[in-house]
Parts: sequence; C-alpha cells; structure tokens
Amino acid sequence: MQAGKVIGACLSCLILLLLLTAPAVAGPPDQAGQTYVVQAGDTLSGIALRFGVSIEALISANQIPDPNLIQVGQELRIPTPEVQKEIIPSSLPDEAGVHAAHTAPTSQPQVYIVQPGDTLYRIATRFGVAVEELVEANHLSDPNYLQVGQALRIPGTEFPTFYPPPFHQVQIGPLPIAQGQTLLVRVILQAPAALSGEFDGRPLHFLITDWGGWTLIGIHALQSIGVYSLVLHARPRHGEEVTLTLPVRVRSGDYATEDIFLPPERRALLDPKLVAAEEARMKAVYAQLSPYPLWEGLFRMPVQEERVTSPFGTRRSYNGGPVSGFHTGIDLGGEEGTPVYAPARGRIALSETLAVRGNVVVIDHGFGVFSGFFHLSQLRVQHGQMVEAGDLIGYIGNTGLSSGPHLHWEMRVFGTAVDPLQWTKTAFPTEVLSSP
Ligand SMILES: [Zn+2]
Repeated sequence: MQAGKVIGACLSCLILLLLLTAPAVAGPPDQAGQTYVVQAGDTLSGIALRFGVSIEALISANQIPDPNLIQVGQELRIPTPEVQKEIIPSSLPDEAGVHAAHTAPTSQPQVYIVQPGDTLYRIATRFGVAVEELVEANHLSDPNYLQVGQALRIPGTEFPTFYPPPFHQVQIGPLPIAQGQTLLVRVILQAPAALSGEFDGRPLHFLITDWGGWTLIGIHALQSIGVYSLVLHARPRHGEEVTLTLPVRVRSGDYATEDIFLPPERRALLDPKLVAAEEARMKAVYAQLSPYPLWEGLFRMPVQEERVTSPFGTRRSYNGGPVSGFHTGIDLGGEEGTPVYAPARGRIALSETLAVRGNVVVIDHGFGVFSGFFHLSQLRVQHGQMVEAGDLIGYIGNTGLSSGPHLHWEMRVFGTAVDPLQWTKTAFPTEVLSSP
C-alpha cells in the first residue's frame, strides 16, 4: 500500500511536512558567426534555447520556410544575440509577423515543446492559461492537431524589446520555470550600477560581476501557477535608479498528491515544541549567506547507486485532510552503512544529531545554496570543515524519525526548498539549458 510504503521509507520526512505550512539560461554572450549542425531529435526551439537566441532570429537568419521542418545534418547559422543599437519604438504595429520580427533581438522566447501524450488542454492547465489564448498566440488552425516536438509560445510573458539604460539585457532561465525549480537571472549592464530586485515581493541578492550580476531564485513548490513580477533595480553611481519589471510565468511542477495515513501514536511521538525548535534551527542554518559560490559545475548524486524512492515535491495530505505540505527533498534508497558523498564543494554548516532528522549534515555551497542529508547512521565531517565534491560525509542510516534506512537529500536556494535533481542536470550558473 502506498501510504504504508511511504511511511516505511521516510517517516520523518512525512512528519516534517506537517509543519511546513507554508539556466539555462541565456546563451553565452558572444557567438558571432557560429554555426550548428542539426542533430537527430533537435527542434528549432530547442536549438534557439540552447544558444540563447529567439526562434524568429534563427528562422530569419537561415530563411527557414517551415520551422517544423528542419533536417538532420542541416547547417544553421546561429545569429549573434543582437545588441540593441537603437530604440525600437514599442508602438510598432503588433500584428502577427511584425511582432515576431521586432521582438527578435532581445526577447527570450517562453516556449514549450510538445511532448508525447500532450493535449492542448493539458498544456494550458500546466501553464495556467486558457486554451483559446494558446490557440491565438500560436495561430493554431486546428487545436486538436499538435505535433510532438512542436514549439508553442506561452502567452503573457513577452519580454521588452528595449531595456532602459543602464540595463543592457536580462537573461533568465530555464524558461518556462516550474514550481520547485531553481531559476537563474543574469543582468547585463551597459555601465556599472548597484543591482537589487525582488521576485514576487521577496528580495534578491546579486553576485556582482564586471558585466553586471546574477542571482538564483528558488521557486516554491507550492507557488501558485501564474505570472509573477521580477523587479530589477539598477542604480548608477551618478544618476537615478532605474527599475525594470519582467513577467515570469511559473508552470505546474506536475507533482503528484498522496494521502498518508498516520496512526495517532506516530503523531504522539512528536513534541510540537521540540519539532518547532528543530525547524527553527534548520531555518537559521539555511539562512546564512556566504557571499560567493563554492560549488562548480554539476552536482553529483550523493550515493553511488542512485535509486530515488520518493521524488521531490509530492504534495501530501494526512488522514484524508487537505494538502498540508510537500516532500522537501528526494529520498534515496540504500542499505544502512552505504557511503554518502558531498555532491559538490562546500563548507559543513551542520553535523549533529537532531531528534526528528536524526544524524544530519548540512553543506553550505555558498551564495545561499545548501544541501541537507538526514537520517545518517554516522557523521564523518565536522562543523566548519571544507569538503570537495565526492568527499565522504557520512553513511546512510535510519536515525531520527525514520522507520527504514534511506537518505533524504534536500537543497535550499536562499531558504526555499528546490528539487536537487535539477542541480545534477544543470550546471548553475553557466550552463545553457536546451529544453524546458
Ligand atoms: Zn524524504
């Protein structure tokens, strides 16, 4: 039975949930004169995303008559993401075709690639848009006819064609972003300026570079589907602050919901005060802000034989009640005593025995990014110690409120729980994602 199995795997993860009320980024800046040979499985929108250019720019640079018909082996010229040389009046007639042409230089297409089994209704639901809006935005003549691999423009998220100085360009990704994922925001400036901003009212912390700055946003797993404001402020040393507001559409993470039966005696195991104190402790650890990233490249899986027994984000209700939480990490199965390795470089922020989480290791990967490992049988690191990717930090166990050996691995980005698996597939902040 599902409920019994889940409790057996990760009791404390479940119980913790009760209390949780709660790039691909853009392309590399310079690729003048670059070409790309179409590979099997490529779509035009996938290629566009990979190189950080718009589909329209690809179409016009290669004079492609039918965007759905590109051939394996075909050589495509990758246009240079154009520098905005002059102001394009935003009052240009916004007709089909014209629109595509004048948004090409700097707009980042928010497109979705049709997958097997998709229907227009299902896609619309996932993005929180009406079917009619999708039909109109994509000039679909027959809404019942979708092709796998077809790129659909998601309406309501158009980026500006012109950025007010000192902004030069804003690149965000991966787009479209789903609940529970990590979003990269890269701001390129024409002139030095102090950067700040907010996403959905939450403040952003920028890492300043010589071309501007970047930050990460953890999209909450329970964030409602819809369009949110990404507000960016740039304040030049001499001059007025300039504010830019961009729409970011958050799509469904397609997370399952499960109802868990918790016997009363299990609930009674928990002293609410103790649980709340432990929760506050963890929150304080995750709230520390080391100024620079310590990680580099992709995160590795923390155990050698990866077997995800419970994915991130599953919504949970208890004893038939309403959804009251979600799984904040992934559970990895393994025998007691299986070595657990650091997934990336960092500093040990916590290595202790806690009542609910058992033996816990938390790694501070820098710049607001943390990994937490719960229920370990043994701790092999000490607070303050630096670890490299692949260093032994402990062993899988069954400590704390856990009724079977497993590893709960969770990640936080500026305090928000995000799916760790994304970090094993996308190298933040450098990698260009090629698919949504
Ligand atoms: Zn768990």
